[in-house]
Amino acid sequence: MLSAHVGDALRAIAGDDAVITRPSELRVYECDGYTIEKSLPEVVVLPRSAEALVEVVRLLHREQVAFVPRGAGTGLSGGCLALDAPVVVGTSRLTRIVEIDLANRRAVVEAGVVNLWVSNAVKDRGLCYAPDPSSQMACTIGGNVAENSGGPHTLKYGVTTNHVLGVELVLPTGDVVQLGGAVEDVPGYDLTGLAVGAEGTFGIVTKATLRLIRQPAAWKTLLAVFETVEDATATVSGIIAAGVVPAALEMMDQLIIEAVEAAFHFGFPTDAGAVLIVELDGLAAGLEPQAQQVAEICRAHRARAVSVARDETERAALWKSRKRAFGAVGRLAPNYCTQDGVVPRTKLPDILRRIVEIGQRYALRIGNVFHAGDGNIHPIILYDERDADQVRRVLDAGREILEACVALGGSVTGEHGVGVEKIAQMPLLFSPDDLLVMSDLRRVFDPALRCNPGKIFPTPGGCVETTRPHRQVAS
Ligand SMILES: Cc1cc2nc3c(=O)[nH]c(=O)nc-3n(C[C@H](O)[C@H](O)[C@H](O)COP(=O)(O)OP(=O)(O)OC[C@H]3O[C@@H](n4cnc5c(N)ncnc54)[C@H](O)[C@@H]3O)c2cc1C
Repeated sequence: MLSAHVGDALRAIAGDDAVITRPSELRVYECDGYTIEKSLPEVVVLPRSAEALVEVVRLLHREQVAFVPRGAGTGLSGGCLALDAPVVVGTSRLTRIVEIDLANRRAVVEAGVVNLWVSNAVKDRGLCYAPDPSSQMACTIGGNVAENSGGPHTLKYGVTTNHVLGVELVLPTGDVVQLGGAVEDVPGYDLTGLAVGAEGTFGIVTKATLRLIRQPAAWKTLLAVFETVEDATATVSGIIAAGVVPAALEMMDQLIIEAVEAAFHFGFPTDAGAVLIVELDGLAAGLEPQAQQVAEICRAHRARAVSVARDETERAALWKSRKRAFGAVGRLAPNYCTQDGVVPRTKLPDILRRIVEIGQRYALRIGNVFHAGDGNIHPIILYDERDADQVRRVLDAGREILEACVALGGSVTGEHGVGVEKIAQMPLLFSPDDLLVMSDLRRVFDPALRCNPGKIFPTPGGCVETTRPHRQVAS
């Protein structure tokens, strides 16, 4: 239990209205987008400035209180759950775009800036920020940095780590360090690279220096409709094997098509087995022949229809449907759990067959919407959290899907992170020695393990005793 004087001190630093302690208000912070596991914090503090945030962290260090960084809470692996940590430190009020340097194509933004705001701020100048998670209307740059987030356009442009030049990091002691910075290559260890993807276990990022890229001159966005998932996934391998690198290559299966169509009425054929969205970008002159080549590859794999978005409005509607697919799934069941695994692209048909088999065995409906070009799958398992047996089956099915990914030469997460959800799966990929080295590295930044404890890997021998969050069922 947090002592009263710490609460008072937090209020003195951040202001009364920046400190949340009422249980009804704390409920908002009991989980992220991974709703199977929940844990109520005692206090949430939302500082209005980076300076106030530093003072908050210094106080927590002096008082030896563990804390959890939180952005928008859209994470899908329980990364910002308040586990063994009474305090959540949110960055949602650090929303300043500090500097836009058009000549050098970079922007310095505070951690709470929402991903899409960055591109919106520079689009009139023909620039954009490339990483575009489907949650980009809500998720923050700090969360993106912590999770090394990707998005539909990751296939061509890379993930967050390829677009972050530096970060300002508040260490768990309250000391502020600048990792990387304005120039491309900083001598010495790539500490920025280390901090990107650390899932909030090294400290709190307060600012990031981002690379801006030129918006592509033109786009061609194709929609290919298939009778079967097998044909759609074989097409993905066919496109890449032909040497075409689309900007995005996304797949939705029948269950997702139905949900998306019901929500957005785009005109997707609800009887199709799967659709592929293929976006090509670059100089206008080269796009038409490439689009024809992609259309031929789709037809060679038995696509029953291939169309091209006629204008920007149609293209935007197509992407809106894809990017809001997770939300549309809410129409199908009271709850859903989004899995995140990776397989080599050529193994997509195998993993999708396994997912069907696993779904049948556990009597669960599973839809698939994912970044097919990267082999990054997102099976969405539908369930009702009021039914403990269903929740247990969801957890078991999810575990089996990830085991299958690893058996096929893949990984247990492509972009959503390990958080609390996948701690048990880490030994599938890493030896005990690997895990020890990683946790030693974490201790360089956070020797007392007070920043986001209980995440990524178990912390035996740490100052903090790791407990399980409250699951809907015991597992
Ligand atoms: C509908 C939907 C679609 C999604 N699509 C994608 C997608 O296409 N690609 C993708 O990669 N992800 C996707 N996600 C997952 C999620 O949006 C990303 O992981 C995102 O980066 C999380 O950002 P956030 O601000 O919500 O972070 P939070 O959920 O608040 O936190 C995530 C993690 O980051 C840490 N953290 C947050 N802020 C900081 C900070 N300032 N300093 C240090 N650590 C911090 C937290 O402790 C936690 O471990 C999706 C989620 C949803 C709900």
